[in-house]
Amino acid sequence: MPPFVEKQPIQTEDPFEKLVAPQAGPWKYEFVYPSVIGTTYIHLAAIYGLYLAVTAAQWYTLVFTAFTAVAAGIGVTAGAHRLWSHRSYKAKPPLHFLLMIMQSITFQYSAITWAKMHRTHHRYSDTDADPHNAARGFFYSHIGWMLMKSHPEFRKRVKLTDLSDLYSNRILMLQHKYTTLFCVTFCLLLPTVIPMYFWGESLNVAWHVTMLRYIYILHGTFLVNSVAHMFGSGTYDKSIKPTQNVFVSLILFGEGFHNYHHVFPWDYRTAELGNNWLNPTKLFIDFFAWVGWAYDLKTVPDDIISARANRTGDGTNSWGFNTKSS
Ligand SMILES: [Zn+2]
Ligand SMILES: [Zn+2]
Repeated sequence: MPPFVEKQPIQTEDPFEKLVAPQAGPWKYEFVYPSVIGTTYIHLAAIYGLYLAVTAAQWYTLVFTAFTAVAAGIGVTAGAHRLWSHRSYKAKPPLHFLLMIMQSITFQYSAITWAKMHRTHHRYSDTDADPHNAARGFFYSHIGWMLMKSHPEFRKRVKLTDLSDLYSNRILMLQHKYTTLFCVTFCLLLPTVIPMYFWGESLNVAWHVTMLRYIYILHGTFLVNSVAHMFGSGTYDKSIKPTQNVFVSLILFGEGFHNYHHVFPWDYRTAELGNNWLNPTKLFIDFFAWVGWAYDLKTVPDDIISARANRTGDGTNSWGFNTKSS
C-alpha cells in the first residue's frame, strides 16, 4: 500500500448526527475559575520574566531557556503531534522516551490526552465537537477553550476517539499515570533549579524566565488552533478553515502549513513542496531517521499534492511549485 493512502488511527463509527463545518451552535460559556486564575498568574509572571530577561538574567540563563523552549516545542511537534497523534512515522523506544521528556517540558497535559484532543480536533474540525472550535472565533480557539468547561458535543464524541495504540505504549502510560510529577519536574522544577545550582542565577530570575518560556510555547501551540484556522491561504482545500500560515510556522517549528496538514495529516513533514527550510521539526525527525531511531517516515508524492491543489485549492501557490504540471 503506498504511504499516501495509509489510514489514520482507527476511529469507532460515529453514531451521532453529522456535523458540517464551520458550525457553532448556541451555547452558554461556563468559566472554570481555577484555570482563569492560574492562567492569569502565568501571564503576569511571564511579562515580569520578559522584563527580567532583558534587564537581569545571566547569558547562561537565556541560552538555557532558549534550549528548553526548542526542546519543549519539538516535544509537541515531533512527539505529541506528528508521532503520537498522527503516527506519521515510527520511533524506537529511546526516541519515544526522549520525546516524552521533551513534551513534559510543555506542561500541556500528558501526551496521550494531547493526542486524544488532537485526533478529535481533526475528526470534527471547526464544529462543536472540536475541542478548540475555530468557528467560535479567535479568543475561544486560541485560549478561551482552556478556561471553560468543554462543549457537551465534544464530551460526547471524544469517547469515540481510538487511543488503543497509545494505551499499549508503556513509556506514554508511565507519563500518563504520573502526568503532574513529570510536568512539574521538567517544566518548572529543573528549569528553575539548574540555572540556580550551576551558575548562581537568582530564584526570582530563574522562575520568571521559566514562566516566560512556558507561555511562549503555550501560545505558539495555540496559534495553530486560532491563527492557522483563520488567516492564510487554502492552497490545498479552499472549503476548509485551516490555512497555510508562514508566521505560525516560524513561531512553532514548522507547524503552520495547516491547510496542507488537514488535507494530508499523515505526512511527517506536515508541509508540502519546497518549504522545508521553515520546518525544523522535519529536520529533527530526519536526523533521528539517520541515527536509526525514527523509521517508516510517511510522505505524500508530489504529483498527488499538486493534483489536489489543482482540484480543490484556492489557486494560491506560496512556494513556486507548478500546480499545472499534473
Ligand atoms: Zn487544525
Ligand atoms: Zn494534526
